[in-house]
Amino acid sequence: MSKGRFGKFGGQYVPEALMYALEELEAAYNRFKDDEAFRKEFQTLLNEYAGRPSRLYYAEKLSKAVGGAKIYLKREDLNHTGSHKINNALGQALLAKKMGKTRLIAETGAGQHGVATATAAALLGMDCEVFMGEEDTKRQALNVYRMKLLGAKVHTVMSGTKTLKDAVNECMGEWVTRGEDTHYCLGSAVGPHPFPVIVRDFQACISKEARAQILEKEGKLPKAVVACVGGGSNSIGTFYHFIEDKDVRLIGCEAAGRGVDTFETAATIATGKTGIFHGMKSLFCQDDHGQIAPVYSISAGLDYPGIGPEHAWLYDSGRAQYVPVTDDEAVEAFEYVSREEGIIPAIESSHALSYAVKVAKEYSPEDCIIVCVSGRGDKDVAAIARYRGEELYD
Ligand SMILES: *Cc1c(COP(=O)(O)O)cnc(C)c1O
Repeated sequence: MSKGRFGKFGGQYVPEALMYALEELEAAYNRFKDDEAFRKEFQTLLNEYAGRPSRLYYAEKLSKAVGGAKIYLKREDLNHTGSHKINNALGQALLAKKMGKTRLIAETGAGQHGVATATAAALLGMDCEVFMGEEDTKRQALNVYRMKLLGAKVHTVMSGTKTLKDAVNECMGEWVTRGEDTHYCLGSAVGPHPFPVIVRDFQACISKEARAQILEKEGKLPKAVVACVGGGSNSIGTFYHFIEDKDVRLIGCEAAGRGVDTFETAATIATGKTGIFHGMKSLFCQDDHGQIAPVYSISAGLDYPGIGPEHAWLYDSGRAQYVPVTDDEAVEAFEYVSREEGIIPAIESSHALSYAVKVAKEYSPEDCIIVCVSGRGDKDVAAIARYRGEELYD
């Protein structure tokens, strides 16, 4: 496989001016990724600060209510800051620090990655500036304030649709003009090489732990591993150490929004085509003219018009399967898992839980499956209440 390629996907489709920064990053990553001291320092941050390893929890009550395979939950919601995003943010912040950078910039949609990056910057004593679409700053005012508390500066992005994809553009532009002291801490397994590889490696702790944990608890591998897919970081992290286990089904759950046959969807695999955007060749939601289409999901974290190149390749090669899950189905799973197991999952994770329940029913109680609970749902409670016709604030 040529550099930064996953089959025909991936690559580095960026202006000349960005190549220098990408090459510097790649060289540094290649140097540090196998460096014993770096790995140890990263692992200590993950364990002592983020709270790893995260639990692999057997949801017994939920499993019995569903009546199929045992459902194990990989509890990324219990990490510090409440989602898997902290794994990658800590890794990239540490790498940037080793590179001599003093400033982190990051894009954010719902604000989870912005908060994780601001947290890592505070801990490691770095400056932090987060770019967030105007629409998202309104929807996620609490996270904007959180980032400010953590010492970050938040820039409101007014270009394009004023959402996540525009925030990514702004970050790339900012990085071009100021690479000497600045690292772009990209939040998902997307973008030009080496980002999809770096983000995947920093999130791969999820499957490394989960594989060892399930073997210890069950003495065998799961029938399926299920995770939600926005850009694809929690899912690639959850899949990675199972890719060679050919009997383990890998299932990514995309946000179908109001349905894949409507214009209000973010299901890239179900509705997208091959294209080039944000520096990578991958699958993207596009209009008839090949322009990136506006996307929609109830879940701000899955509201991205593309998918990481490794997922496009896992799909193309048939190794992984991707399914669309609607707003309605995700909200139902959000409520069901809260009620049945006493765990309020993020609305993103609820997409995976919704489909996992269906998968579990295909198997018997001697079998098991693993679902990644990518984050906790506290941030979503007001939006779900609104979805059900209740306003919590006026
Ligand atoms: C950001 C986010 C996602 C989606 O991003 P991926 O890169 O696809 O993982 C999923 N769940 C939670 C809780 C998130 O914060």
